[in-house]
Amino acid sequence: MEITAKDRYQLVIGGESVPASGDEYLTTIDPATGDEIARVAAATSADVDRAVEAARESLSAWRSRSPSERGQIVHRIAERVRETADELARIESLDQGKPLAQARNDIDGVARYFEYYAGAADKLEGKSVPLGEDKLDVTSREPYGVSGQIIPWNFPLSITARGMAPALVAGNTVVVKPAPTTPLSALHLAELCREAGVPDGVVNVVTGSGEPGAALSSHDGVDQLTFTGSVPTGEAVMKSAAETITPVTLELGGKNPAVVLPDADLDEAAFWIATGIFTNAGQICSAADRALVHESIYDEFVDRIVDRAQSYALGPGTEDPDMGPLNHAEHFESVLEYVDVGLEEGATLETGGDPLDRDGYFLPPTVFTDVDNDMRIAQEEIFGPVLTVIPFSDREEAIRLANDVEFGLSGGVFSRDITRALNTARRIDAGSVYVNEWFGGSIETPFGGMKKSGIGREKGLEALDSYLQTKNISVNLAERDG
Ligand code: NAP
Ligand code: MG
Repeated sequence: MEITAKDRYQLVIGGESVPASGDEYLTTIDPATGDEIARVAAATSADVDRAVEAARESLSAWRSRSPSERGQIVHRIAERVRETADELARIESLDQGKPLAQARNDIDGVARYFEYYAGAADKLEGKSVPLGEDKLDVTSREPYGVSGQIIPWNFPLSITARGMAPALVAGNTVVVKPAPTTPLSALHLAELCREAGVPDGVVNVVTGSGEPGAALSSHDGVDQLTFTGSVPTGEAVMKSAAETITPVTLELGGKNPAVVLPDADLDEAAFWIATGIFTNAGQICSAADRALVHESIYDEFVDRIVDRAQSYALGPGTEDPDMGPLNHAEHFESVLEYVDVGLEEGATLETGGDPLDRDGYFLPPTVFTDVDNDMRIAQEEIFGPVLTVIPFSDREEAIRLANDVEFGLSGGVFSRDITRALNTARRIDAGSVYVNEWFGGSIETPFGGMKKSGIGREKGLEALDSYLQTKNISVNLAERDG
């Protein structure tokens, strides 16, 4: 299949493209212009019922395939993704706004998720537990059943694949609910799954706004929920899941510290922190939001990061600039409000802060200095290209500031002294810590949050634990009269 954005997209339920029951459509727009790209079916809770039912019906057949066969099918999804990678990247860039090269990188990651977990399909082993010679005790790892997956708009296809691939190899079936502003790539992926031989009903996609997410997270036909998004929505999802005792994996926000120690290579630190906060226009949960910089190198660091910030060329994602627009109007307004908040709180705006005078939602790289860690711009997730730079006087203070937020997703340390760097890294309360780099992990490494940043881990072999439950079988081997 050659992929091009269509004018109109339907839901994918039970292997078919079907209109929403209310026959309503949302429009998805190009954030570089505000122009409509396509109309996308707006699922109702009745459509979510149909999708969950289709996923339940396909469950026993999918579970009873041999693990190696499930792995082969999932591997073929990766092949279809690679064959159509340029087109998928173009659609992601158009719908989400990110530069084409970043979208292309996401799509490579999507293929890697399917390849990586395909290889694990036939290695999901249980164990035997020694209970003495009169007993045989074995564990097996079983799928939960229907996995409901709610996706944000910052890495639409990447996060879809991150949850779908381990869920499928573990023998679950899936209902995906993309974010309303970035639904296109997941719908294309569902088509690629069908072409790869995924049986009808094993992968379902319900697009829409508001109603389908709420319906999916409270559905009693869903056996496991994976949610990625903001802390307040994560709380709502967890509360709904509590009603049906459904396990949840929550990947939530961050306000991540990058600690720059006095002996750091400042060029390297500025490069990685700029990459960490300006990639995808800062719309990354693990962005380098707060640079904590030793007072002896503070001014020098600020000069370098401002130079880097000012070197970014902005434009529509599809023209592959250094930075694209923010994803949608409401979010754009929210980021601009934080610029005002920073000014009102008395921080110094070194560069950026003014939107581009053109259509679309463009804010250039923005750097605030003289930031106090108690300010809202240092405590709240802005989710845009806005860096806060905070001074510290000794390492104890740096660690205290690094941990003085409600989040604990990621963090970083820059130092030429590996002992000092590692000892600092160990004291940062975060699920991922990067040393002398940013976005250091990969699909093979576990990712997730401490504190309010979430529950559970995605990526790596650890993610499989979220999609498998353990059964213990004990067998009596005692022969009473033998
Ligand atoms: P969001 O507003 O929380 O929405 C996330 C998803 O939840 C969307 O699909 C949304 O669709 C749906 N949703 C909203 N309300 C819901 C409800 N009551 N029940 C069920 N679903 C509901 O987050 P976002 O603005 O899309 O994404 C940005 C956030 O995601 C940031 O906080 C970021 O840090 C976080 N994030 C975390 C990670 C990670 O791996 N830790 C990765 C990426 C992003 P509807 O609006 O249509 O309902
Ligand atoms: Mg869009």
